[in-house]
Amino acid sequence: MDDCIFCKIASGEIPADTVYEDDAVVAFRDLNPQAPTHVLVIPKRHIATLNDLQPEDEPVLGRMYGAARRIAEQEGFADTGYRTVVNCNEAGGQTVFHIHLHLLGGRMMHWPPG
Ligand code: 5GP
Ligand code: ZN
Repeated sequence: MDDCIFCKIASGEIPADTVYEDDAVVAFRDLNPQAPTHVLVIPKRHIATLNDLQPEDEPVLGRMYGAARRIAEQEGFADTGYRTVVNCNEAGGQTVFHIHLHLLGGRMMHWPPG
């Protein structure tokens, strides 16, 4: 997707503070962090929303969660706890239409979310 900011981050065209990368996913720090650690984990392949996920894409979700788990360990809050969130479409709060897993940690989280 030519005009997708996260595709440009995945390809290296736009710089990001990358904390993890493998053949399927990239993870980088959010520009507007909502917690002491706020990392976005994205698939390298463009998928706009969870609603656009095809059955053959489903393994990449496991790769995204696996990356999040490793980053939580690296950041030092795996045992104390953290939150992972995927927003979908307008009512879910999605603003960038390339799926991404928010990994938030380093503070107490509240429930219900806003
Ligand atoms: P959403 O609201 O779609 O769930 O989350 C999009 C997230 O992407 C927001 O938390 C926003 O701060 C972050 N974001 C938007 N543009 C950029 C960017 O160019 N670089 C980085 N690192 N984060 C971005
Ligand atoms: Zn994209």
